[in-house]
Amino acid sequence: MDFALSEEQSAIFDMAKAFGQEHIAPHARAWEAAGTIPKELWPEIGALGFGGLYVSEESGGAGLSRLDATLVFEALSMACPSVAAFLSIHNMCARMLDSFGSDDLKARYMPQVLSMETVLSYCLTEPGSGSDAAALKTRAARTNEGYVLNGTKAFISGGGYSDAYVVMVRTGEDGPKGVSTVIVEDGAKGLSFGGLEDKMGWRSQPTRQVQFDDCLVSADNLVGEEGRGFTYAMKGLDGGRLNIAACSLGAAQQALDMTLAYMGERKAFGKPIDQFQALQFRLADMEIELQAARTFLQQAAWKLDTGAPDATKFCAMAKKFVTEAGSRIVNQCLQLHGGYGYLADYGIEKLVRDLRVHEILEGTNEIMRLIVSRQMLADR
Ligand SMILES: Cc1cc2nc3c(=O)[nH]c(=O)nc-3n(C[C@H](O)[C@H](O)[C@H](O)COP(=O)(O)OP(=O)(O)OC[C@H]3O[C@@H](n4cnc5c(N)ncnc54)[C@H](O)[C@@H]3O)c2cc1C
Repeated sequence: MDFALSEEQSAIFDMAKAFGQEHIAPHARAWEAAGTIPKELWPEIGALGFGGLYVSEESGGAGLSRLDATLVFEALSMACPSVAAFLSIHNMCARMLDSFGSDDLKARYMPQVLSMETVLSYCLTEPGSGSDAAALKTRAARTNEGYVLNGTKAFISGGGYSDAYVVMVRTGEDGPKGVSTVIVEDGAKGLSFGGLEDKMGWRSQPTRQVQFDDCLVSADNLVGEEGRGFTYAMKGLDGGRLNIAACSLGAAQQALDMTLAYMGERKAFGKPIDQFQALQFRLADMEIELQAARTFLQQAAWKLDTGAPDATKFCAMAKKFVTEAGSRIVNQCLQLHGGYGYLADYGIEKLVRDLRVHEILEGTNEIMRLIVSRQMLADR
């Protein structure tokens, strides 16, 4: 058993961290205030190979492992969790296209997806179905011209911003077996968007409802086979959960680094606050929790990379554990900054707000517990 990162993995982490600190961190607050991430950023990220981190090399992707990818998300999230998480969604969609898309579909979309001239959104949730995603109602009726889509997707990260949408639709019976996946390009007739959601965190990412009103999509835009869309969507989520957890990890590390520095400078009762043993113990507790979270996340990623039969359970456990640890840590860091932690200038309150949603999306942490306990009962 070897817990060390390889030289290549350390280099990937360092490259992502350097890019984030130079090109994202200085602008993160301004992008948050603007409610959008400049589109020009994505081709720069694509040029680093981050548009298809675990898209196979045969398809032109970086062909990295899931473990490698978590390093990229951890490093970028040190600059801004909102930007890093948005990239994670694009990567999840890119991988779905690579794994299940036809050669024709890949030829048409993959080059621009990898260069990030085409940014992808993932559309599963609907106003009436979130956790119970298989109850989705958006219908795609097959006609001679292709599929005609009707319905609404809710909470879509990149809604009204992305260049194409990977949409889970109902083509058949109720339940998961009646779901298919199609790609809908921005500008398609019958595609429209709701108003911008006003959110607690992830504010630089535009979130909107995505609406389909007799939206015609070519039959060639079906991803894989009809009726397999729910399986594809769930396969995407195993890796997506690791990435979101990695985003929590990176932000928590950043907050802890900032807090360590701050505690050496800030004085109370005549000495730096890092001299109070009660606070030193809190630092130790955060470090222990952070290191445990990192090890657990990397183990789950390794399980997914090696095709372990319990990979889904481990991804769910890691997502729950790491996102909750990350939120606890950034909140503690805010506390250790006193009143200054509550001010935007100190960079901590944004992390508290950004990380909260990681406990809700890519499957809520209650659903993560459901996946874990279901597997435990089945194995009994
Ligand atoms: C900022 C943001 C961005 C998002 N981006 C996307 C996106 O890009 N694409 C996308 O498809 N979706 C996206 N989502 C949607 C997200 O995945 C859902 O909000 C999430 O899956 C929960 O669904 P829900 O909101 O309908 O909650 P519900 O499913 O209504 O859940 C309500 C509560 O009940 C709990 N609950 C539900 N069922 C059970 C159960 N069986 N056992 C125990 N507890 C249960 C939940 O954990 C939760 O606490 C986004 C959400 C947010 C907030």
